[in-house]
Amino acid sequence: MRESFLYFSFFKKIFEHRLKPKLQEDPFIKFYLPSLEEAIKKSRKAFIESRSFAFCEGCAKRGIKCCGESLEWKLSLAELILNLLLAERRGEVLYFNTERPEDCLFLGEKGCTLILVPLFCRNFFCEDLSKFLGKERLKKIQEAMEDEAVLSFKLGDYLNRNYLFKKEFLRDSLQNSTV
Ligand code: SF4
Ligand code: SF4
Repeated sequence: MRESFLYFSFFKKIFEHRLKPKLQEDPFIKFYLPSLEEAIKKSRKAFIESRSFAFCEGCAKRGIKCCGESLEWKLSLAELILNLLLAERRGEVLYFNTERPEDCLFLGEKGCTLILVPLFCRNFFCEDLSKFLGKERLKKIQEAMEDEAVLSFKLGDYLNRNYLFKKEFLRDSLQNSTV
């Protein structure tokens, strides 16, 4: 079993057992999480309209994948927690690819399964994709992604300062490493 699966599934359990009730009642999270969801929709719309997703699908059909093994480590702990909160809102379950170790832990049959994709992946445009999009469309996508970037940073920073980097949370996680 790969280490990243153990790491992310461990913090998923910590989220379910310890964090979820507190975070779902936190006024700051309650206020900003719906806006983040809207911002993500706006970014996705820009990717679809620019035909960026369609271009990447062409790669997948030719057997070219750029979501390889270990890239799951680009997802920060705060981004994982935001994904779990967003999945709760949608009544979805976080997916783990446990069958194809050569691929990213979050890569499903139809691409990335995360709701909030790691910052690194959001900003990745390979040379071919950049050429296909051209400056204008690339600029449009980047502008559409601004709200998502600002809100995910704001919420991630809040989670780190008030929950994840608190010594009580770290102590609790260590003590409950068998949950
Ligand atoms: S980012 Fe580039 S290499 Fe990756 S799927 Fe899209 S076109 Fe292909
Ligand atoms: S976009 Fe998603 S599936 Fe692809 S490398 Fe990033 S996290 Fe993994």
